[in-house]
Formats: sequence, C-alpha cells, structure tokens
Amino acid sequence: TKSKPSLTFQPVLDRIAAEIGEMPGRGRPAAYIPALAACDPDRFGMAVAEPDGTVYGVGDWRQPFSAQSITKVFTLALDLAREGDALWEHVGREPSGNPFNSLVQLEYENGIPRNPFINAGALVVTDRLQTQTGDAAEALIAFLRAESGNDQLSINEAVAASESAHGDRNAALGHFMASYGNIGNPVPVLLNQYFRQCSVEASCADLALATGFLARRGIRADGTRLLSGSQAKQVNAIMLTCGTYDAAGEFAYRVGLPGKSGVGGGIIAVVPGHCTLCVWSPGLDERGNSVSGVAALDRFTTLTGLSVF
Ligand code: GLN
Repeated sequence: TKSKPSLTFQPVLDRIAAEIGEMPGRGRPAAYIPALAACDPDRFGMAVAEPDGTVYGVGDWRQPFSAQSITKVFTLALDLAREGDALWEHVGREPSGNPFNSLVQLEYENGIPRNPFINAGALVVTDRLQTQTGDAAEALIAFLRAESGNDQLSINEAVAASESAHGDRNAALGHFMASYGNIGNPVPVLLNQYFRQCSVEASCADLALATGFLARRGIRADGTRLLSGSQAKQVNAIMLTCGTYDAAGEFAYRVGLPGKSGVGGGIIAVVPGHCTLCVWSPGLDERGNSVSGVAALDRFTTLTGLSVF
C-alpha cells in the first residue's frame, strides 16, 4: 500500500470556510444572463486535489456550477496537445490589461488576440479545436469526465441557449477575427461550440481533479500524457499572467499561483508538483473574478506557504 504524507488539507479548508463566512462583501453574481444572475452569493465551496486523486473539500464543494471561462484552460490544453506550437501563430501570450470581452486590441494586432484566456483568444482556440476534433465541446466534456471520474458532468443546455441569446459581443469578436482570416469554421458553428463550452457544469471536486494534469507536469489521471512537461509549464505560466484578465497582477500578488476564473464564480489554481484547487462563490468583483474565491485562495497560500514564489 502507498503511504500518504501525514499532511491533510482538511483543517486548513475548514478554517478558510469559517473565515470566509465572517467576511463582509461578497460581490455580485454575473448579470448578463438570468441563470447566473439568480445565483446566491452566499454559496461557497472549495476543494483541493492531490496528484494521486485524493480530494479534500468544504462547503458546497460537490455542488455543480457554471464553469464558464475556467473551461478555457482545458480547451487550450486539448488543442496544444493536438497541434502544438502552430497554435501560437493565431493567438498571443501576453496579458491584455483589458476586460475579458474587450475588442479594442484586435484591430491593432491584425485579428490576433492577446492571449488564449480573454474571450477573443478563447474563440480562436475553440475554433482550432473544432477543426481538430469535429466537436470541440464534446471533446471537452469527454476530457472533464475522464479526469474527474464524474460521468454525470455535462453541459447545461438552458444556459447555452441563454449565452447564445445574449451573445452579441462574442459574435462581434468572432466575425471581426474572421475578417482577418483568423477563424477557420463558419462563425455560427464556432459560437455554438463556444457557448456550449461556457455552459459546462461541474463541481469544485470535479474541476480540481480535472486540473490535476497541470500539477502532474502534463500527465492525465490514467497515467497517459496529455502535454509535455514544458507545455504544462507554459499553460501554468499563461494562467499566472492572463488567467484573471485585467486583475492578473493583483491575483499573482495576493495568491501567487497560476489560476483561472470564470464568471460563474469559480476559480481553479495550481501548485505545480503538489496539488490543484477549485473554489466557487458566485459574487464577483468588477473585473469578473469571485470575491470570496480570491480571498479563499489568498488565505490558502498564506496559511500553507504553498505558492510558486
Ligand atoms: N460566457 C462568458 C462570456 O463569454 C464567459 C466569460 C467569463 O467567464 N469570464 O462572456
């Protein structure tokens, strides 16, 4: 039998949940679609997964929520695994300093988005994954199910329809990049894939486990390799610099880990070689990051000393 280290993450998670419960000011749930606007900002869950698949959790850590932009990490990894560095001819790797749904830099940079985690860049990645697989959202779901061990994990079709009904800005991004020749599929096909991707529902436990390959230097839950060690390092680096949009500097300062947020209120984070985390609380700050989520990760790295710095 394999001996486990005596350290368990449970006491630190319990302590963080108690502290977050006392904290004033939770932010506001995303308001652009009714399904997210209706979320209770007092919900809070957090999970830590070790590289061997052991998971610790607290609060609403088994409650599925809308993963939203967290999925951008997985589509990036799935596409990199297939086409490697060719992807970087179509999307950059620099922080944008602009909101996640911004259009402004695209015209100056010839339809090449700054990075894969702003919406424009994620649309390019999903477009390329669509070309590689024929069904990007299905490839994403298959990956998340395999890594989390949760066969129930799926897309909320009502949320996807709502994303589509309120998707004018993403449609504008898609068409604008297509005008530069940077989108390979018909824009409506791409948008359908992107909206379904955003509408994946998963729990903190599911997403902490699914992020494990980034702590295992590219190795999947079943021991096979998704990314090279170097590619896993690169994805972690892009999460650190671009994963929380125009708040990435503040996130690195407070948390000190590669992380990726979504407007559903979730954030995933990686301690390379050590563990992965996912925290969920639907109240957001004005940049679209979970207020309690960032606070909880801040407390985690402060209390444990685990950080990349
Ligand atoms: N569905 C959202 C959008 O495309 C996702 C954004 C996010 O989670 N930051 O605008």
